Amino acid sequence: MLALRKTAAAPGLDFATLARPEPAAGEVLVAVEAAGICGTDLHIADWTAGYESMTAAMPVTIGHEFAGVIAALGEGVSGWTAGQRVTVRPSTVCGHCAACRGGDPDGCTQRRGIGIGRDGAFASHVRVPSLNCVALPEGLDAELAAMTEPLSVSLHAAELPAIRPGERVLVLGPGPIGLGIAFFAALAGAEVTLAGVRDAPRLALARSLGGIATIDLAEGSLGEQGFDVVIEAAGVAAAVTEGLARLRRGGRFVVAGIHARPAPLDLTRLVRMEQTLFGAYRAPIADWPRVLSLLSRHAETARKMITHRLPLERATEGFDLLRAREGSKVILRP
Ligand SMILES: [Zn+2]
Ligand SMILES: [Zn+2]
Repeated sequence: MLALRKTAAAPGLDFATLARPEPAAGEVLVAVEAAGICGTDLHIADWTAGYESMTAAMPVTIGHEFAGVIAALGEGVSGWTAGQRVTVRPSTVCGHCAACRGGDPDGCTQRRGIGIGRDGAFASHVRVPSLNCVALPEGLDAELAAMTEPLSVSLHAAELPAIRPGERVLVLGPGPIGLGIAFFAALAGAEVTLAGVRDAPRLALARSLGGIATIDLAEGSLGEQGFDVVIEAAGVAAAVTEGLARLRRGGRFVVAGIHARPAPLDLTRLVRMEQTLFGAYRAPIADWPRVLSLLSRHAETARKMITHRLPLERATEGFDLLRAREGSKVILRP
């Protein structure tokens, strides 16, 4: 099978032809129907700082946002059958750390990411722990289901500040995560503004979802308005500074971006304004079925987030579309 892999601790990705994997005990083999390219995959391809720990797993097939069909079961797997349609939580747990033994897999300290620390889904088949599979609701297609992982991150970030209807919410960063956050904040009844910088295509896409106002900060400014909630999904220090300056007294600020550098914060202002700061990273396991049912219910809107569909062998074009910020979610079909 064709697989897109990270083979060296340097910029670049390589295609390889591999034997179809066999599921180990406790694993299932998933035939991949759709796999999304994530910002993380871009960072891995470009070898930006923060992914050095992957080196030990190389060569490794990347791709961690996917859905498909169970093609085979490893030894001892129960509760799943061949032919079942699933998406897969990419964060695997160890099963023996204190958190795992205590029944709190969300707290596992020995995680390995499918598509980062072990082979992922930019291939026709991937073996995964059966525990990581989440069944798809009836009628939900693979390309929508492949967005469950990024949208679980968005839902988590949008829910942390407990948005109330009518609140003014500013989302900074119109990438797929920020777009999903704006979508969920609008569903919660907020008055949502999504901001980007030189991001016309992605801001136009956001407006097409409905209920989201946009601003390109290269052309306009946010003015004097104060927001009840600001959610940063840009990974840029300036966005944090800018966002905190727009937050009202008592407002809530969520940092969801991954930052390559530390950000300078005016903490005295945060103290005097009695604001709350949250960090949002991975959604709890329990959020996955909720995201799947939201995807089913809002399928038509969610599908607009997919801007391109490409066969796996043309993955490089997909990465280029994301680098140029022309694409939002690019789906690869192995
Ligand atoms: Zn991702
Ligand atoms: Zn563990």
